[in-house]
Amino acid sequence: MAAARVSRATVAVGLDVAIFVAGLLAAVPFVLLGVGRAGDMDPGRLWIDVAAIALVYVMARYPLTIPHESGDIVIGFETCVLVFLLLTGGPVEAFAVWSIATAIANGTQRKAWRSRIFNVGITILCGALLVLVYTVAVGDADHLSARSLAAVMAACAVFFSVDLFVTAGTLAIEDGCRIRDMVNWSSVALGLACFVSVDTLGFLAAVLSRSDQPWTMLLLLVPVGTILVAVNSISETRLAQLRLTGLLEAATHAPDWSDDDQIERSLVLQAQRTLRHTTAELRDEPPAPHEIGAAIEVEGRPVRHLVVQHQVSGRVFDERDRAALEALTAVGVSAYNRRRLSDEMTYLARHDALTGLNNRAVFTDRLGQALENRRRGLVAVLYADLDGFKEVNDLLGHRVGDQLLSLAAQRIMGCIREQDTAARLGGDEFGILLDDLTDESQAHVIAARVLECLGDPFDTIDGQVRVRVSVGVAFNDDPRDTAEILINSADTAMYVAKARGKGRVEQFHPAMRAAELDRLELEAALRDAVRDDRITVHYQPVVDLVTGAVDGFEALARWHDPQLGQVPPDIFIAAAERIGLIRQLGRQILAKAHAGGRELAAAAGRPVSLGVNLSALQVSDDTLAEEVRLLAESFAEVQLILELTEGVMLSNDPVTVAAIEGLKSAGVRLAIDDFGVGYSSVGYLHRLPVDILKIDKLFVSELHDPRSHALVEGVVSMARAMELTVVTEGVEDWSSARSLRDLHCDLAQGFLFSRPVPLEQAKALIVAGHIDVSPMSAEVGAGAF
Ligand code: C2E
Ligand code: CA
Ligand code: CA
Repeated sequence: MAAARVSRATVAVGLDVAIFVAGLLAAVPFVLLGVGRAGDMDPGRLWIDVAAIALVYVMARYPLTIPHESGDIVIGFETCVLVFLLLTGGPVEAFAVWSIATAIANGTQRKAWRSRIFNVGITILCGALLVLVYTVAVGDADHLSARSLAAVMAACAVFFSVDLFVTAGTLAIEDGCRIRDMVNWSSVALGLACFVSVDTLGFLAAVLSRSDQPWTMLLLLVPVGTILVAVNSISETRLAQLRLTGLLEAATHAPDWSDDDQIERSLVLQAQRTLRHTTAELRDEPPAPHEIGAAIEVEGRPVRHLVVQHQVSGRVFDERDRAALEALTAVGVSAYNRRRLSDEMTYLARHDALTGLNNRAVFTDRLGQALENRRRGLVAVLYADLDGFKEVNDLLGHRVGDQLLSLAAQRIMGCIREQDTAARLGGDEFGILLDDLTDESQAHVIAARVLECLGDPFDTIDGQVRVRVSVGVAFNDDPRDTAEILINSADTAMYVAKARGKGRVEQFHPAMRAAELDRLELEAALRDAVRDDRITVHYQPVVDLVTGAVDGFEALARWHDPQLGQVPPDIFIAAAERIGLIRQLGRQILAKAHAGGRELAAAAGRPVSLGVNLSALQVSDDTLAEEVRLLAESFAEVQLILELTEGVMLSNDPVTVAAIEGLKSAGVRLAIDDFGVGYSSVGYLHRLPVDILKIDKLFVSELHDPRSHALVEGVVSMARAMELTVVTEGVEDWSSARSLRDLHCDLAQGFLFSRPVPLEQAKALIVAGHIDVSPMSAEVGAGAF
């Protein structure tokens, strides 16, 4: 291919030179002959020849140009001068003068040397042909007869055709294409018509020169001038059209330019095509004096210049070239901008906006690829879910929640290796893809690292926040596993980690699938139960340890499902929170518990205290607050106690604080449930309107442990100082009851007095009024004796 190109170029240069030499060889004898005769010439005639040379020179500047990518075909109209000379001075003189004139006119044009020698050669040769054809065609006829006019036209047509096809032929040889492709037939027809008619002006001039008044020849300057101007503007229009086509093409294709590289290549190519016969490049340096350039300024990248220079030295650019280049760079700039916009959109489509991690779609995609590549290797998916995130979000607000998520994402990125992929899969759920593992323990090492990293407190705008994380791990044990299945397995394992106490890692096992199904079944059944309002309430008495009097009850939710049997409240309350049913369920329980409370008060004939548990997610439920207010105002005989866990109280979030104060102001007492587990701060006791502390059953069951004993003692004395009531939970034996009484812990709740019971049994208890606590003393007695 390269060889073919080299030889084509060599042939083309050879042709140019050959035509030049042939032209010279044809011209030299006639020029010498003409110059020899010049001495005998009448001086008037000599002046005419000189004027003819000048005229040729001028007219050659205004040719008709048929532009083409490979090179322009240029048709000059100066041949009319040759016709005039031929008709008035004879063939030898005419050809000699023509040769000199055309050599000067073409040889001095601002073109490459090859174009110039080719043009000199071809114009001389075509001139010779014109003279020959005319001389043969006119025969002995008079030079100004109709036959001679026809001969002139025929000769001019031959001149035009030969000039055109030889020029097109050499360009075609150089470019390796067909002449047919080089020539636009409608342009050729127009060119031929113009050429022949303009050249007949030479005939007209000859006629006028023989008339009585040869000065009338000057009148011909008018049509000649007009034609030259018209032809020039046609040529310019063609060029402008070509430029415009180039720009239009660039603008049309620009949307398809898919990357920066392609934009760059296309711009350079289009610049070369639009500003023909040039070399273009995109570079950092602005144009040098012999070049033109336009700056490409795109936000976020250094300024570059599209610079164009002529392939052939000596040519100059004009304003229109500059304008075309600027238009082209504008197309380029918009292509770059479009590219950037589409990059941004792609980024957004593939990433999570909050954390900047990949999103689920990308994660699934990468996992799919990893599974494809490692049919035999080991791939692991870690599914991490923050424990307690819902509370942070609910209690501290979304801003803190969002911040926590991005901080957690950063920490996760710090735990994984370069080749691993982390993604945000949902609200507080993150996925980690570990590819190319050699054994399972590697995944467990990373999982443990994630557990540790996320366990450290996070500094948020609202102070330090602590969360834990539950992680499920799944491996590609089964080659049939798809990305979705593997993610699902890791998710299932994560749920098991949560169920087994949170803040831990569990590896997926197929048996967990059953547990997962159980979970889904449970959730579906719970939805039905809540919809049908089938959750019931049992009551557990709260007893005065000194007198045995029943002070009141704690209402505890119960759910018996026909299929699942008795479901513990820890399980279904957590499920209701998970599936967003807790508020509805909470209101159902409150209504039911309160109705029971009213019956209990009626049965006892005195007011009773009634504890109702609230989930953290219920605190900000306005409907609930309104309900509580209504109940408290309407029924003084039921003294409501709302039991909240410590976590809720720790919130500094103004919304939560206001919600807690709102509940309090509705006319109820507030109790801190499970006091002593989890959190160590008691600062909130000063800030919030708390009335009761419920010491967790954990401490009661371990009262023999001096530390638990000391804690209960400390809590009681603190509560005294702050005028808070203390209730202990989980009292299961008389010795605990006695210890608690001795610690001045007034009220107690526990299986020793009764398990939570249905309303009818609770009524019997309150009607009896008190529980026999004498065994407490009896045991002391027994021990004493
Ligand atoms: P909790 O609020 O701490 O409720 C006290 C739990 O301790 C009850 O378990 C009760 O049956 C149990 N208990 C009482 N005395 C003893 C004892 O001497 N020994 C032992 N081992 N346990 C005793 P239950 O009813 O299974 O409730 C468990 C948890 O479920 C509750 O803990 C509470 O957090 C939640 N819960 C129950 N009902 C509701 C409700 O209506 N709404 C909300 N939000 N949570 C509820
Ligand atoms: Ca409780
Ligand atoms: Ca409790």
